[in-house]
Amino acid sequence: MSFIVAIDGPAGSGKGTVTKQVAQEMGLTNIDTGATYRCVALAVIENNVLLEEKSKIIELAKNIKIDMDTEQNVFLNGRNVTQQIRSKEVSAIVSQISSIKDVRLLMVDLQRKLAEGKDVIMEGRDITTYVFPNADVKIYLDASIEERAKRRYKEMQERQIEATYEEILENIKMRDENDKNKEIGSLKIAPDAIVIDTTELSIEKVTEKVKEIIKSAR
Ligand code: C5P
Repeated sequence: MSFIVAIDGPAGSGKGTVTKQVAQEMGLTNIDTGATYRCVALAVIENNVLLEEKSKIIELAKNIKIDMDTEQNVFLNGRNVTQQIRSKEVSAIVSQISSIKDVRLLMVDLQRKLAEGKDVIMEGRDITTYVFPNADVKIYLDASIEERAKRRYKEMQERQIEATYEEILENIKMRDENDKNKEIGSLKIAPDAIVIDTTELSIEKVTEKVKEIIKSAR
């Protein structure tokens, strides 16, 4: 039996950074589910498929191979796309791609397979509610939209990806809206999830809180 820590929350809530840190410190396999949708979005761009061409997008999602290694590298058909899937272009369409029901069903299937037989910490939007509703630990990370945009802006600067704060804020607003209104797996707080508002908290503090919650559940 595997041990599953499920973490959900909106873009910029700190999920990615915290999950990576906790995974390292507690020996859990980290699965970034957003990366699976980002791979589909990248494949859509690279194959010049239009957002309206839903059946082509579903075909692509069926036929691509997505892998992750223990160092958080993401591979699309064997090619390391860890950096590319974070581009502005991918971020601009990923939410719409992930709204396609059949794409979600395929990715959820893959995400569950990636977790099979392992002790995992998995982050996304619907992990606590849809992918693993019976997870051993359920946490929802949140923060104000301004703080989340500020964090993403800093992250983009560090990665040397050009984007203004306003652009990022708009993108986050659009993704929040989209993520909350999906037919399946929409972003919502599971009734039994522990909610942490990270607006005023450092990454270290959030990491500590999450570790404490996991330790008491293990
Ligand atoms: O977490 P990240 O920002 O990389 O996720 C990219 C996009 O993938 C999100 O904006 C969301 O639309 C979608 N997503 C999702 N379900 C998940 C993880 C991500 O719909 N479990």
